[in-house]
Amino acid sequence: MKLKDLTFRGGVAVSDNKGLTKDLLIEPAEDPSMVMIALHQHTGAPCEAVVQAGDEVKVGQVIGQSQAFVSAPVHSSVSGTVKEIVSMAIPTGLTVECVVIESDGKNTMDESIKPNGGLEDLSPEELIEIIKEAGITGMGGAGFPAHVKFSPPAEKKIDTILINGAECEPYLTADHRLMVEEPDKIVFGLKVIMKAVGVDKGVIGVEVNKPDAIKALKEASRDEENISIVPLKVKYPQGDEKRLIDVILGRQVPSGGLPMDVGAVVSNISTTRAIAEAVMDGKPLYERVVTITGQGVKNPRNLVVKVGTPFKDIIEQCGGFNEGSPGKILMGGPMMGISQYSIDVPVIKGTGGILVMTEEEAKPEPLQPCIRCGKCLEVCPVYLQPIYLSNYALKGDFDKAEALHALDCVECGACSYQCPSKRPLVESIRLAKREIIAKRNKTN
Ligand code: SF4
Ligand code: SF4
Repeated sequence: MKLKDLTFRGGVAVSDNKGLTKDLLIEPAEDPSMVMIALHQHTGAPCEAVVQAGDEVKVGQVIGQSQAFVSAPVHSSVSGTVKEIVSMAIPTGLTVECVVIESDGKNTMDESIKPNGGLEDLSPEELIEIIKEAGITGMGGAGFPAHVKFSPPAEKKIDTILINGAECEPYLTADHRLMVEEPDKIVFGLKVIMKAVGVDKGVIGVEVNKPDAIKALKEASRDEENISIVPLKVKYPQGDEKRLIDVILGRQVPSGGLPMDVGAVVSNISTTRAIAEAVMDGKPLYERVVTITGQGVKNPRNLVVKVGTPFKDIIEQCGGFNEGSPGKILMGGPMMGISQYSIDVPVIKGTGGILVMTEEEAKPEPLQPCIRCGKCLEVCPVYLQPIYLSNYALKGDFDKAEALHALDCVECGACSYQCPSKRPLVESIRLAKREIIAKRNKTN
């Protein structure tokens, strides 16, 4: 297949703005003096605290647990003393229980953390259990527990594991740096997932604006017959998992369906690397690589940050704000990121980036009436009709929005980006989705 074929219908060309950090080595962040670790930072049931104020904890110790299948345990990222368990805002916009721990600065590891056997000695069931116990959730944003994703029902026959190395969101480079600096771990993590799911074909898709990552992964997988590295055209939102499946496997996930419906399981780069570390070193997911970037921060960096570290600490380690006050701060990139109203929120497992925009960049463009140009329809990768969905949402007619498949919207923002009238398309469709889901939950 030629490279020009490896893309999908719709989408937009966006300035990637990755130059600020794409060539910067991953560095460890300074140790936080205090962490606030959320007990509900994944899709599924929240955890309950298994520690209380006054307890001494170690790095990697379980501090939150749930009996529900769709959930993931939470571990301490520091050693120290639990100060309190309080409700506080996290960067997803939710207010959830958090375990506040004062670090003793020693980083004493929990004794239970030790390497597992070699991959050949571990059964698929044991691998799934290791991934579950390590609290691994999708680190690309959705936060779906990995052990659930890797345990599809028996009737869903999976034949391919896809690793999403597109990182198409502008500004973010955490995954890019991991592919360049730790390609062996990515390939090993893919082999773990292949064995856990019982699949003998693995593919890593990478946009061609990351030639160093493609080279490093090809080198790391040169002896792996069942693993291929596929260069992808640069187009947003190439990293949406359903687009990736379409582009690489030529299969379309049906409306309301999941990748497993077309025989695929997709994992993000950071998640795959966390899986490798869980199996190789027994390491739970308590830290991750975060890109701190944007014109609004003095020294953009790629840092390994402990889960629970306040955004404020990380921004300070990047030299602070470039201007007196930033225009906008997002968790994630400019297309799908979540606006933050405070920098006191803690890093969670899904924090791949912190983007600081200047006041000038964040100035909203004036809203104009729709000129019926049809550009939003042209760019929607899901073949939706953003203008109609948005109109119904703004009128509160959520039944009509549902009939037009609002729930299939992946909230990529391509329609809003392309709209010359700056209509609030993705924002209103997101609202419609929330209302439709709330209504369904009420009637179920
Ligand atoms: S309608 Fe949804 S999926 Fe389509 S372009 Fe807009 S945000 Fe993306
Ligand atoms: S792109 Fe904007 S102006 Fe054009 S049809 Fe869609 S909503 Fe209207």
